[in-house]
Amino acid sequence: MVLRVFNTLGRRKEEFIPLNPSEVRMYVCGPTVYDYIHIGNARAFVVADVVRRYLKYKGFKVRYVSNITDIDDKMINRAKEMGISIQELGEIYSNAYFEDIDKLNIERPDVTPRATQHIPEMIEAIETLIKKGYAYVVDGDVYFDISRFEEYGKLSGNRAEALEMGARIEVNPKKRNPADFALWKAWKPGEPGWHSPWGKGRPGWHIECSTMAQKYLGETIDIHMGGKDLIFPHHENEIAQAEAITGKTFARYWLHNEWLTVGGEKMSKSLGNFITVRDALKMCSPEVLRFFLISAHYRSPLDFNEKALKNAERRLERLINAVERLHDLPEREDETAEDRRLLLEIENGKRKFEEAMDDDFNTPLAISALIGMAKAINSYADVNEKIEGRIKRRILKIFTDLLEVLGVRWEAEMEVSYGNRLLKDLISILIDVRDELRKRRDWKIADRIRDRLRSIGIILEDTPKGTKWRISRK
Ligand code: AMP
Ligand code: ZN
Repeated sequence: MVLRVFNTLGRRKEEFIPLNPSEVRMYVCGPTVYDYIHIGNARAFVVADVVRRYLKYKGFKVRYVSNITDIDDKMINRAKEMGISIQELGEIYSNAYFEDIDKLNIERPDVTPRATQHIPEMIEAIETLIKKGYAYVVDGDVYFDISRFEEYGKLSGNRAEALEMGARIEVNPKKRNPADFALWKAWKPGEPGWHSPWGKGRPGWHIECSTMAQKYLGETIDIHMGGKDLIFPHHENEIAQAEAITGKTFARYWLHNEWLTVGGEKMSKSLGNFITVRDALKMCSPEVLRFFLISAHYRSPLDFNEKALKNAERRLERLINAVERLHDLPEREDETAEDRRLLLEIENGKRKFEEAMDDDFNTPLAISALIGMAKAINSYADVNEKIEGRIKRRILKIFTDLLEVLGVRWEAEMEVSYGNRLLKDLISILIDVRDELRKRRDWKIADRIRDRLRSIGIILEDTPKGTKWRISRK
């Protein structure tokens, strides 16, 4: 089936066809490692991870590059504040970033280039831009001349005149046009610097991403992603730099995610309304946080609050419980009409899931399809005590593959589910012991086991088929 994605470049949905059918090349703007990432940043990374996983599910090979910005004003200021070197700062927070994305089950990029390790490549790119007449040097600074790049503004829709008006607010007399942007910044005391043909200095932020993307993915890449704040100026400037150098399209599909908000406002460092991934993980498991972050379509805002988080938790639990229930259902040899009906329902759900994801990665609809599948499994298990083995394994495989697309792990390594399994096993041990006691007519201790379990909300019921148990919610 055809995958359609909303391309910010052109602002419409388009069929996704990679340049090279054997490999999709994808670049995602990574974090500036001056602090822990917050869950707004995590939304951007989880969304990109789901795109990557779905492409793989559809049979594409994906090469995924995501950078680490380890030199800019924020890095310089924070290192000063903390009294450590910029390298140390970068080390601390890039380690923390990897820990956080690992917890959220975000696959590690194939390459994670760091800005400070690509200064020579950036200098070379800037030299080319100067040589081609797209950039000019003033007192050790180098600026990109946006008037020389005719298509400037094609991504954001900002026309050059409007940009000039806007940029006039902070006039930099060194620039020819107020909206020109820095490719290289001359060294100032107290700042780190690298030697260059224009004197000591450091690269601008935009040249970092286009240079590293092209180094690891080639002149034209398929997908470029980031939060919508990056459309302008960051991605607009990346296009200008890259295309001025090569004369070729830089990125063919631009995907941008909407905000994660708090009380309707963008979560951001500067507003101070942020929650780090670390702090959020004190409120819920990483699986629930991840599931919450994909509970809205990536181009819709998503508001973070306790109710929404609880809701995500409940829905995830429903999915996991259904898979576990099916997993635990004993097998029989012959298949019944009901087995076949269940399989049909599951295949139908899978189709709905794929349709949703093919329509610009509509995760909330895809999740609804999964919930429908979970319901079908539950209705089946309510009336069937066994299931034919091959059908069971097929359904489990379908369900597990779809959960994998969303990055949801349900098997033993998942803490909640592992806890559930331990709990089940423990209760069945207690039930066995109690049965033995009842056989020996030791009612007193048998009743004590039942009463103690009830006091923690586990209800035992003795039925002709043996002792059953359930959890009382109140
Ligand atoms: P930064 O380290 O600030 O460059 O951010 C890393 C990524 O997180 C970028 O793609 C940002 O656009 C994205 N981002 C930042 N804040 C939010 C937010 N509140 N909601 C969604 N994405 C965000
Ligand atoms: Zn970038």
